[in-house]
Amino acid sequence: MERLWEHGEYRPPWLWSAVEVLKNVSYPIICDPVGAGARRGPHNCGECDAAIAKAIRSHDLTQDPGIFDDLDCNCKVAWQKIVELEEQTFGTPLV
Ligand SMILES: [Zn+2]
Repeated sequence: MERLWEHGEYRPPWLWSAVEVLKNVSYPIICDPVGAGARRGPHNCGECDAAIAKAIRSHDLTQDPGIFDDLDCNCKVAWQKIVELEEQTFGTPLV
């Protein structure tokens, strides 16, 4: 995986990115995580995909960003590193 990232290969978006978007918008937003965890859909490491997809669905109903505060996983650190790297490289995160 890390070698693919280094070479800038295409990868599906991270669920963490979707969570960040949902946490930061101030208007009602529905994020349909259909395909979450699937190979071609948005995904994280596989361990936390189901929990995050569930939180996103709950957020659709409650519009409560606090629902994401309890989410954490080892792969969140990896995702944050990638965001930083892409900010340095491209000036804007692509994930
Ligand atoms: Zn994870």
